[in-house]
Amino acid sequence: MFKFNFFSISLISFISFILILIISFCFFIPIFQNDANIFLSADLSNMNSSNYTLSFSNFVWPTPGYTTITSPFGRRVSPTSGASTNHSGIDIAAPTGSNIVAIFSGTITYTGFSGAGGYTVTMKNNNYTVSFCHISPTFLVCVGQYVNKGDIIATVGPKNVYGVPNNPYKDSNGNPTNGATTGPHLHLTLKKDGRAVNPLDYF
Ligand SMILES: [Zn+2]
Repeated sequence: MFKFNFFSISLISFISFILILIISFCFFIPIFQNDANIFLSADLSNMNSSNYTLSFSNFVWPTPGYTTITSPFGRRVSPTSGASTNHSGIDIAAPTGSNIVAIFSGTITYTGFSGAGGYTVTMKNNNYTVSFCHISPTFLVCVGQYVNKGDIIATVGPKNVYGVPNNPYKDSNGNPTNGATTGPHLHLTLKKDGRAVNPLDYF
């Protein structure tokens, strides 16, 4: 038989306290998350807000299955003629044809052949832009298109590309290359407020 003794009352109080704690926690979590994203929420009008997930630290890795960094962000010895000595991004080794996914949700702002970057796709979300360089000339997205984080937006391009007018980049055999590159890889440039930042700080 259940009796209201001191022990049962204490137990009921304790359970109620835990329940209230859980309910208030569930209520406040979305508020905290919104606060964290407030600085990024200025341009939500053209976005699908249900897929809105951009934040400081949960960008998606651009090359599923390939994580070897062959050239880090920052100062370096130029690996090939025309490549920079202050590396604006990171190079990730991956074979030609490997999938490249959007690291955050956003709008495609550029597709084309961009000098040392070779064939490039650029996308934007508020004050962040990211460029994917040395990709395949067969573009999978077009300018103005909105893509979700994790969507396949390109594939890693070949080392050599042909038919680009006035392409100054060549390999040691004199064959034209996909920008300043020594072999298939993804070059990723992430910019915050127009300044290149180390992408590795955002995964
Ligand atoms: Zn690079």
